[in-house]
Amino acid sequence: MNFHILTLFPDMVMDGLNTSIIGRAIANKLLTIEAVNIRDFAVNKHNRVDDYTYGGGAGMLMQAEPVYLAYKSIEEKCEKMPRVIYLSPQGKTFSQEMAEEFAKEEELIFLCGHYEGIDERVLEDIVTDYVSIGDYVLTGGELPSMVMIDAISRLIPGVLHNNVSAEFETFQDNLLEYPQYTRPEEWRGKKVPEILLSGHHANIEKWRREQSIIRTAKARPDLLEKAKLTEKEKKMLANNSEI
Ligand code: SAM
Repeated sequence: MNFHILTLFPDMVMDGLNTSIIGRAIANKLLTIEAVNIRDFAVNKHNRVDDYTYGGGAGMLMQAEPVYLAYKSIEEKCEKMPRVIYLSPQGKTFSQEMAEEFAKEEELIFLCGHYEGIDERVLEDIVTDYVSIGDYVLTGGELPSMVMIDAISRLIPGVLHNNVSAEFETFQDNLLEYPQYTRPEEWRGKKVPEILLSGHHANIEKWRREQSIIRTAKARPDLLEKAKLTEKEKKMLANNSEI
């Protein structure tokens, strides 16, 4: 999988993504990440890529042409037209489901805006997906692109050790993950739940599933509405006094 990031701050994204699990995946050639500096495609001698907005208003806007040329420099290298994701607070909110969908692509281009954003005309021409990472406004699309690349990368086979991605994780089946514990068995007077030390796998699985359901009911009832629960599990929830 090849990620291409169109940005005014290539060092910011590359420094952030070149570490830990994603950095190792790059070293192991499971994926590539390339940051293209939009400023390299400035069309004036001062290397400016932003200007005032027509119609007035505070703040500057990124101009269409440098963004278009930067995009073209990547598109020319790709065998088929890649999806172009514009990180924008106006986009569809990013989710695990979207990460799974994007993980099927071979090439992805991330377009990071800055200042007040980007001239609408180039967005109309090149963007295929508008994605937000939440209902708040950031100064640029760099952090959102890093968030998305992190979430997508860990779904690529081999990026996580032992195929951990195949195991249960939050959002799978519309449930949050159950609580987890590691050594020591007792920490400051708090003991690990007995069942996890029993070695009885079926009982452990049952306990984990129940904990997931209870946790989701408490923290994310909106998710639970979409989860498929058995009649027994529904009863268990109804009888749980904590909820
Ligand atoms: N004027 C724009 C608006 O009101 O929709 C906001 C521009 S924002 C200050 C600058 C850039 O940050 C955007 O072009 C976008 O790339 C990025 N950005 C800000 N918040 C974001 C969010 N929640 N999700 C994704 N990208 C975001």
